[in-house]
Amino acid sequence: MSETIFSKIIRREIPADIVYEDENVLAFRDIHPQAPVHVLFIPKQPVPTLNDATPAHAELLGRLMLAAAGWAKSQGFADDGYRVVMNCNRDGGQTVFHIHLHLLAGRAMHWPPG
Ligand code: AMP
Repeated sequence: MSETIFSKIIRREIPADIVYEDENVLAFRDIHPQAPVHVLFIPKQPVPTLNDATPAHAELLGRLMLAAAGWAKSQGFADDGYRVVMNCNRDGGQTVFHIHLHLLAGRAMHWPPG
């Protein structure tokens, strides 16, 4: 159920442009970038949607956010700013059911989002 294309990326069975990795988190460039910088931060432990997260996942969710912010700082655009987004299910626009944090940067973002 939780096996997706992202599991294959974690296992290096399909290629991805990986930009960050630690014990719990992997980050790689989105194949259809929506901004000059568009990177997906995913937990190595698959969780299908944010609805499936429990208090046991609280640390993992925090690690995703901290990994994204840390990488933004390391790349030098953190002070200019960026956006992080997690889509959930149909109305959220989720298409891959392994939770992931989109990090978008390199242009001014619009609000409200589409
Ligand atoms: P979401 O619509 O929030 O579920 O986001 C899924 C994202 O995964 C989309 O932005 C896709 O472009 C991206 N994506 C799907 N397959 C791959 C892949 N093989 N490598 C990198 N990004 C991918």
